[in-house]
Amino acid sequence: MAEKRDYYEVLGVNRDASPDEVKKAYRRMARTLHPDVNRDDPHAEERFKELGEAYDVLSDAQKRAGYDRYGHAAVNGMGAAGGQDFAGYGFGDLFETFFGGTAQMSRPDPRGADMRYDLEITLEEAAFGTEKVIHVPHQGVCETCQGRGTAEGHPVPCPACAGTGQRRQSTTNFFGLHMTSVTPCDRCGATGEIIPHPCKVCGGQGRKSVVDELQATIPPGANTGSRLRFRAKGHAGLRGAQAGDLLVVIHVRPHDIFERRGDDLFAQVRLPFATAALGGRLTVPTLQGEEVIDVPPGTQHGHLFRLRGFGMPEWQGPRHGDLYIAVALDVPTDLTPRQRELLHEFAVERGDDVERKPKGLFQKMKETVEDVMEDYRDKSREAFGG
Ligand SMILES: [Zn+2]
Ligand SMILES: [Zn+2]
Repeated sequence: MAEKRDYYEVLGVNRDASPDEVKKAYRRMARTLHPDVNRDDPHAEERFKELGEAYDVLSDAQKRAGYDRYGHAAVNGMGAAGGQDFAGYGFGDLFETFFGGTAQMSRPDPRGADMRYDLEITLEEAAFGTEKVIHVPHQGVCETCQGRGTAEGHPVPCPACAGTGQRRQSTTNFFGLHMTSVTPCDRCGATGEIIPHPCKVCGGQGRKSVVDELQATIPPGANTGSRLRFRAKGHAGLRGAQAGDLLVVIHVRPHDIFERRGDDLFAQVRLPFATAALGGRLTVPTLQGEEVIDVPPGTQHGHLFRLRGFGMPEWQGPRHGDLYIAVALDVPTDLTPRQRELLHEFAVERGDDVERKPKGLFQKMKETVEDVMEDYRDKSREAFGG
């Protein structure tokens, strides 16, 4: 045997190439070195075999480790040499690269598909947990045939594909290469079986459209995106096969008062400015009802009060988040004359520059009327030269 080339060199990759890089390099090289693309090159087949051999070793972590330590000696006699069978060298990958289909086809999974159900709940329901009755339209088991799909008798192997579920067809591609293409059998839907006397209700599927009523228990702490899995409550399997799962995905509606950030809640509450200055108590909302908090004297606008444990419970955990109350100073807009007087006195005492005598509604109307009259007089004078 001639001197063997280094496998990394054959694939044109570095010694530290990732499995993905090895695979990509192989695909790229296989396309250019394929004997059917290089019909005039007498060495093409040899080079293609060499490529397959290199890929066989470098794509297998164990063989590659041995090769890295001991070189070709490590992999000789491991069945890597020669290239007895092209299919062993990732021909499936090559097939995919050339034709966009796979050489190997598996039967369709008879298992029922998983399904998703989006459920909207309120923040209160999320906080305390809730029970919901949901109606889930899905493919359920056909009661008429109990999911078997047959009206009478048993399924028999499909005569069109001899029970394999696949049909093979020989074609010649544009490289002049004879290929066998494999397609799913349309007679039996690739299942390999046909039902001589199908159930009339479900047409032999063993399932039909139904709406199931389910009781969903949502534990405390759910957030938008929380999921609950109901085993085997998804679509029924084909002819009695295992049903898929139902995934209930929670969406928590935004709340009028509370804004949620993780397990913490935030709310804004108006604080009378006298209470802010003098200190006192403030009634604040929580998910559990109203609470009274102590406001220290000199509390500023935007101050955050933290109510430990009044946030949301942890989803399927023991902890609780906190509630933060941000205070917004409440500036009154409906002062009585007495209140105005008191505030005015307060401002004078502080040396604040305030409006001396705020105008009442009557005063304002009187001024407006006087302005209009003055205007009228001016215009008359201009017109009559008075
Ligand atoms: Zn068939
Ligand atoms: Zn049926």
